[in-house]
Amino acid sequence: MTNKELLSVAEEFGSPVYVYDAEKIISQYNRLTSAFKVNELRIHYAVKALSNISILKLLNSLGCGLDTVSVQEVKLGLEAGVDPSKIIYTPNGVSLEEIEEVMHLGAQINIDNLSILEQFGSRHPKVPVCIRINPHVMAGGNSKISVGHIDSKFGISIHQMPHLLRIVENTGMRINGIHMHTGSDILDIGVFLYASEILFETAQQFKDLEFIDFGSGFKVPYREGDIETDIEDLGKQLTKKFEVFCKSYGKEVALVFEPGKYLVSEAGKFLAKVNVIKQTTSTVFAGIDTGFNHLIRPMFYGAHHDIENISNPDAKTRYYSVVGYICETDTFGNNRQISEIREGDLLCFSNAGAYCYSMASNFNSRYRPPEVLWYKGKAHLIRERETFEDLTRHQHILEF
Ligand SMILES: *Cc1c(COP(=O)(O)O)cnc(C)c1O
Repeated sequence: MTNKELLSVAEEFGSPVYVYDAEKIISQYNRLTSAFKVNELRIHYAVKALSNISILKLLNSLGCGLDTVSVQEVKLGLEAGVDPSKIIYTPNGVSLEEIEEVMHLGAQINIDNLSILEQFGSRHPKVPVCIRINPHVMAGGNSKISVGHIDSKFGISIHQMPHLLRIVENTGMRINGIHMHTGSDILDIGVFLYASEILFETAQQFKDLEFIDFGSGFKVPYREGDIETDIEDLGKQLTKKFEVFCKSYGKEVALVFEPGKYLVSEAGKFLAKVNVIKQTTSTVFAGIDTGFNHLIRPMFYGAHHDIENISNPDAKTRYYSVVGYICETDTFGNNRQISEIREGDLLCFSNAGAYCYSMASNFNSRYRPPEVLWYKGKAHLIRERETFEDLTRHQHILEF
């Protein structure tokens, strides 16, 4: 999307506003599907990254399935018209009741602990389940998003395989898939390939597999010169290993991935207006009309989001600290070199597609921003800005 197009979106829908470029989502999907030339490839988009129903519909129209972590996400997927057979449900630490509710909705259940596996298998031995394995491979950008290490709460440890096999045998349940998801922002495809070896080895112990799910963790670039997961190289190498596995397994199974970030991160821009320029003795602050209530990743993970001044792009650059309006430390970027900012200018945050709107809140009693999908050269409002009623709707107000 051009600066002019982005400015027109802010003009029409106000600020702050999230804008998603459908073209970019489609091209990322196509890039991923071209990288893996296997008999059957299934891509399940991780709904938690960005769960707007129109985004789910767009991906569904491409043939993409969904990866979900709550019964509510499953219901959003069904609302979007996704066939339940194309929805994988990979919860962590949820109740048996919720898992059974999802089972009745028809989604593929993925279980990540032995206790629930045993209870579920005893009650529903005919329902095939996928198991989430923890291969204990250290991966991921930082400790908050790395989930495969030894003391991680995710997955069933490979060291508990004998116990797991005993449960499967005793209950007579059928394991139709195995899964791993070792974390986000994996830089080194070697780590991924190493974990895949462990998964292939584990897979040999189950005779009814229909798919092997490698989760996600593909890293996307956040700034110029950033390393990203080399999907094409990973595609070549993993495809080779996968073919060898299928031969020795004696059956073609499907290769599954569950990318969130990879599909939607770069497609998203977040636009915010500069309310005030505050010059102190050491710093120039640009205070904008939003805060970590709308985009929490910088404060939560120390994530980097490029920030550009799209209403004054060709001016001389200066150094700014871009800060939000929340009454707590609320910094989007320190000492950023940005084209001269004037009050009223519009700033554009990159990589605002994944884990931005979906993590937004009403902290400070602010409204969550609208979401716009840029599709075929036009802006489509896919979620309105909240209103005061949204803040009061569920409150029961006592009189004193
Ligand atoms: C979050 C998550 C994903 C998506 O991770 P990304 O880094 O956004 O690609 C995939 N699978 C599972 C089980 C997840 O929890």
